[in-house]
Amino acid sequence: MIKDNLEKVQARINQVDHTQFVTLIAVSKTRSTDELQQAIDTGQQHFAENYLQEALVKINHLKGQSLIWHFIGPIQSNKTLQIAQNFDWVHSIDRLKIAKRLNNQRPKFLPKLKVLLQINIDNEPTKSGVLVKQIDELITHFENLKNLTLRGFMCIPNPSNSEQNFTRMANIIKQYSNLDVLSMGMSHDLESAIANGATFVRIGTDIFGKRT
Ligand SMILES: *Cc1c(COP(=O)(O)O)cnc(C)c1O
Repeated sequence: MIKDNLEKVQARINQVDHTQFVTLIAVSKTRSTDELQQAIDTGQQHFAENYLQEALVKINHLKGQSLIWHFIGPIQSNKTLQIAQNFDWVHSIDRLKIAKRLNNQRPKFLPKLKVLLQINIDNEPTKSGVLVKQIDELITHFENLKNLTLRGFMCIPNPSNSEQNFTRMANIIKQYSNLDVLSMGMSHDLESAIANGATFVRIGTDIFGKRT
């Protein structure tokens, strides 16, 4: 049951030795609005989605329940308008062009869009994300993007050496005193992510069950 699963995940989070505040984000891609509602009924507030069209249906259905929506999927240019209009957080910014479009398209009546850079921490050419050596230059541009607030980094490290890369992420964010969010850790590795300073964990399978 989703309620029991949420309690188990929260208990796992609490068991890790840490001092930072950790927000549990329920990754709800492929899940029905009924399943999300079960999580909401237990008090879950943060949800993350990867696919825009699917997400918009759920956001619309579940309106008025003070939910916080995170976009965590790859972003093509033609998706930025609806992301800017419908989400509170975007974790998957990997290039300046996308950040500029989100900035220009964020409605003025909404609070600033909170954003994270997705870091390609494994430096794998086939993976999306900003390379570590590109971070400094990219960050300089955010000062001019007045409708965005850059808060930190997200990563999806290769499971083979995720622990080591969580530690690297923790060291990288220390260099930026104005950044306070590290989105890292999924169902299988949330403990080591939190031990290394994660402030957002993104959990799908261990809340909702295996995706088909
Ligand atoms: C699907 C997904 C998750 C959740 O993964 P689980 O292993 O199901 O917990 C987290 N982050 C991103 C970016 C995802 O696409």
